[in-house]
Amino acid sequence: MTLRCKHRHTIDEHPACFANNDLAERRYVKDTGKPWYTYPGYKIGYLDIETSGLIGEKDYILTWCIKEKGGEIFSDKITKRDISTYRLDKRIVKTLIDKLCEFRIIVTYYGTKFDIPFLRTRALKFGITFPTYGHIYTWDLYYTVRSKLSLTRNTLERACALLGIEGKTHVDLNVWQLAALGDEKSLKEVLTHNEYDVIILEELHDRLSFTRKWIKSSI
Ligand SMILES: [Zn+2]
Repeated sequence: MTLRCKHRHTIDEHPACFANNDLAERRYVKDTGKPWYTYPGYKIGYLDIETSGLIGEKDYILTWCIKEKGGEIFSDKITKRDISTYRLDKRIVKTLIDKLCEFRIIVTYYGTKFDIPFLRTRALKFGITFPTYGHIYTWDLYYTVRSKLSLTRNTLERACALLGIEGKTHVDLNVWQLAALGDEKSLKEVLTHNEYDVIILEELHDRLSFTRKWIKSSI
């Protein structure tokens, strides 16, 4: 089914209408009592990855989380076996991309500069097909925060502190180091941190809805 905005345009033609929830007579919402973003092919997901470092060419993904808007969190984490067999994040890059393809819109914080290029680099390295341009839209809240707020630093942490959004956890540097070596307890802690980040990302997105503007860039 193709959903249409109040001007009878598609999500590709009038993304801003979808961002503002201006759908045709709100018919699709009324009929089922469900918002448009729960329709197959229209899902919104909040993405965040945790990595062993900042450079996709040499570092690797430790955990990933995608939270479906208003729904559950999907995740995966690297294992000791992935590391000891030198396959590193190949398996979880695949599971992440498979899950990513179920979403139409991916919301991140600085994801267009970090998470997405990092993931693309890992996928290319392993010969895993990455979603083609135009398939998934991204919505990077970093740019919203940077342009609409005045903070000491334009981080997810500062934005959440301003709005009283709780849940940002801190992971000790030693824990990061052990997680990158496959230590199960440390990886669990990193994953918990990752889960909280997508939860607060969704909250931040909802709180900043007054500034909501579709950034029509695709991955
Ligand atoms: Zn429209």
